Amino acid sequence: MVTLAERLLDEAAFPGPPFRPEILASYQGVREVRYCPMNGAARILPDGDALVIEVNEAHSRGKQNFSIDHEVAHTLFPTYNRYMIEDAVTGEFSDKSEEEWLCDIGAATLLLDGRYLRPLARDAGPSVASLIELADLFEASVEATARQLAKLDLWPCAFVFWEEGFRQVDRPRPGQILLPGTEHFGLPKAKLRVTRAYVAPSLGWFIPRNKSVPENSLFRECWESDGIVSGIEHLDIGREIVETYVECFYAPYYSNSVRIGRVVSLLLPCDWRHYSPTTPVSYQVEVSVADHQ
Ligand SMILES: [Zn+2]
Repeated sequence: MVTLAERLLDEAAFPGPPFRPEILASYQGVREVRYCPMNGAARILPDGDALVIEVNEAHSRGKQNFSIDHEVAHTLFPTYNRYMIEDAVTGEFSDKSEEEWLCDIGAATLLLDGRYLRPLARDAGPSVASLIELADLFEASVEATARQLAKLDLWPCAFVFWEEGFRQVDRPRPGQILLPGTEHFGLPKAKLRVTRAYVAPSLGWFIPRNKSVPENSLFRECWESDGIVSGIEHLDIGREIVETYVECFYAPYYSNSVRIGRVVSLLLPCDWRHYSPTTPVSYQVEVSVADHQ
């Protein structure tokens, strides 16, 4: 799939990023990309003698670009014969369907071609400012960019995404309404927990999903502030407590019109040779809401 995606990129011959999904789609017989209301992420369907891609108009630009590229990746299969495909979700990299998994890999390649991303990222160095700038340059979501950067394994790092949530046993039952402040009456309090962790292979840490952090952590501090928060954190990752240099920023997104708070973090071992204690802590960033991959 990566080879097929790179071949399509070569055919389109962009001078550099961004690699516009609509142009890539046109090379695959797609006459039009429509932005429309829908429950799912995107679909591809025949329209006369051509193809049309429809994508969720409510999603962020980066997410839409990934979804369009996911549909383009479907057409890269030699067995694809102009039938309609509905994608409720894209970018989940779920192993439940091999074709859907491969199309997510194809989309990640088309959007964030490693042949371009690798040298740009190497020059930029490991920081959340680099992550934001690269996501912007490639017109991808922060999450898709983080995943691709971790996969390239340029540095021993992890990109970890945090949201408020509960332990499995404490999760509110369906229909149970939690009013603000009711935790004082014995109900559990939501903690910041890992929703996604993209770990570079060379780091070798296993960061479990749903792992929580204490209230006095840098991640919680970041939750309550603007800009980038950075510092040293002792992070319990289950099997061990690791000392890590952290940079993080608050990047909420919208899901079904509900604003969901999220902290995006970069973790590096403290002995990382590029670690600099003078990294600015008040770097202001414009973070697009609705940026969820
Ligand atoms: Zn699909």
